[in-house]
Amino acid sequence: MKLTSIKESGKLAILGGKPVFNSLIPMVRPSLPPFKGIENRLKETFSSGLVTNAKYVELLEKKIAQYLNVKHAVCVANCTLGLILGIKALKLKGKIIVPSFTFCASVHALIWNNLTPIFVDCHQETFNIDLTSIEKYITKDTSAIMAVHIFGNPAQVEELNKIAHKYSLKVIYDAAHAFGSSYKNKPLAGFGEMEVFSLSPTKVLVAGEGGIVATNNKRLADEIRIGRDYGNPGNYNCEFVGLNARMLEISAIIALENLELLPERLVKRKKLINLYLDNLKNIPGISFQKIEKDSSSCYKDFAILIDPAKFGLDRNILALVLEKENISSRKYFFPPVHKQNAYEKEFIQENLVNTNFISEHILCLPLYNHMKEKDILNICQIIKKAYQYAPSIKEKLS
Ligand SMILES: *Cc1c(COP(=O)(O)O)cnc(C)c1O
Repeated sequence: MKLTSIKESGKLAILGGKPVFNSLIPMVRPSLPPFKGIENRLKETFSSGLVTNAKYVELLEKKIAQYLNVKHAVCVANCTLGLILGIKALKLKGKIIVPSFTFCASVHALIWNNLTPIFVDCHQETFNIDLTSIEKYITKDTSAIMAVHIFGNPAQVEELNKIAHKYSLKVIYDAAHAFGSSYKNKPLAGFGEMEVFSLSPTKVLVAGEGGIVATNNKRLADEIRIGRDYGNPGNYNCEFVGLNARMLEISAIIALENLELLPERLVKRKKLINLYLDNLKNIPGISFQKIEKDSSSCYKDFAILIDPAKFGLDRNILALVLEKENISSRKYFFPPVHKQNAYEKEFIQENLVNTNFISEHILCLPLYNHMKEKDILNICQIIKKAYQYAPSIKEKLS
């Protein structure tokens, strides 16, 4: 990819200049291992014919349980099915408190279990479930709180457990974003009844498609193992109505190799994040997700919030400025789940002030482990220029 260097005087593409990138910078690219690292295991799998739920899935479960420091890690085909099976196995009933500022799959998993989502607001700085809004929604029908570590930022695990204890609720985590994150130097597992991670292509640890249910509860782990195989305990006399949610050996082989590479990738990722933060922090009207001091985020996504009054442009126009330069960006999560067509009409809507505000002002910028540092510098420079030339951009678009 050839780069046109941005001169101070160079025009933004939206104002008629040449785009800074001549091919598209995507939002993410999956972190795959070098093919050589997986070649032998793939060959072995092909010749054995054992392509699903066999020895490499078992090995991955062992390695991941070690990494996460939990008793059980169960591999499943993806995080969505892991959540659906886990929630079913926990026999949750009635109403479940869940943030609306999340990916749709968190809530879909509740609906597939005939549960009622009670949407609560998120915190305006951390973007995670807002504790102050939880208690007022707890009723006698509430059986659990589902929290999500948004973009890898650890939710308030200790406080959530306190609230859950007080009202005899279960806490479950959609930890789809959080492989590689930690709280007080501990990986984000073992805090709730279960944590469900995603290993899909946009996540930090990639299997291709895949999910992990982490738990210290043996009964739960056993039930998910049966549940991922239709509910069949091995004798074709199904114990309950399960699913096919088995993980492919190919996915496990990819994930095993990626797990080895993860520590160095997390270091690189941190460096990229710091580059973004350092180069954007002095631009008026831009703020970042707050990570609390005991927390470390894997930054599944790097998000900025745009205050149009101070920045001069709203996030939709900034997205357009970036698009003209061949830079992808994503309004994520917009719309929030409670405003999506599938949910809006059916569930009671509260005014989720922070959720609505953040979803209307947020923009996620490109980030992947092997991204070039100078690409980030160029993206930051474009954003700075968008701020400087905001009046001309607005005039041009009017
Ligand atoms: C990606 C994602 C999921 C779904 O994960 P899959 O492995 O694709 O099923 C669930 N919840 C959140 C918050 C996600 O970002």
